[in-house]
Amino acid sequence: MRNKKIVIGNWKMNPESVKLAESLFKGVVKNNFSKVSVVICPPFLYLNNLKKISKKISLGVQNVASEERGAFTGEISALMSYDTGARYTILGHSERRDMGENDLMINKKVKLALLAGLVPILCVGEKERDEAHEYFQVIKNQIEESLAGISKNSISKIIIAYEPVWAIGKNAIREATPEEFREVAVFIKKVLSDKFGGKEVGNMSILYGGSVNPKNTSSFLTEGGADGFLVGGASLDVKKFSEIIKICTA
Ligand code: PEP
Repeated sequence: MRNKKIVIGNWKMNPESVKLAESLFKGVVKNNFSKVSVVICPPFLYLNNLKKISKKISLGVQNVASEERGAFTGEISALMSYDTGARYTILGHSERRDMGENDLMINKKVKLALLAGLVPILCVGEKERDEAHEYFQVIKNQIEESLAGISKNSISKIIIAYEPVWAIGKNAIREATPEEFREVAVFIKKVLSDKFGGKEVGNMSILYGGSVNPKNTSSFLTEGGADGFLVGGASLDVKKFSEIIKICTA
């Protein structure tokens, strides 16, 4: 576990103009970052403008190509993302898995991200909770397949975000409870430790994502033991996102 909590904003395909993106970013920059690490993952096109505003917030991308370079129309590589100022990349988000991304592709992306110097934020999480607890196996498979071939030296550079799909965004059935998060976070650490060794995994951050808002932030930290958050909707609202940052600072 890191000393500082980490709060990551996933802006997805928002906002609609660079002007609005700059204004949102400037609003978030007013916070105190002495005791919290904040990362904003805007649409790639906004990176250049946002990096000129402040260095207090790290920048990330929401995806990278699964190939290093070449004839891949429309793709943006890990190396390009780093060169443009990103230091993190979200990988394996459920919205991208819905577009056809599988664990093999995610595995290639994790490796390329590490090679380029980006910190991978690997999203894992089940689509539904079944009574037979099959969802543990779903999460285990996602971790094992997307991290296949990663060295012991590299594993501690990776951040894991537990994002149960049923708790994300406008279609969320409900948010997870802090207890549900805690249970899965312990499970994730066990799966990682079995594969990479307890020492390497001890310092890794396990974040929660899924309808995070200023009202539930504190309980995920105290009762859930979260190392931080991956925030979707609330990261587009300066007031709510700043409130989440403040709670993680306290
Ligand atoms: C997400 O999409 O990663 C996410 C956590 O979204 P939200 O916070 O809106 O549920």
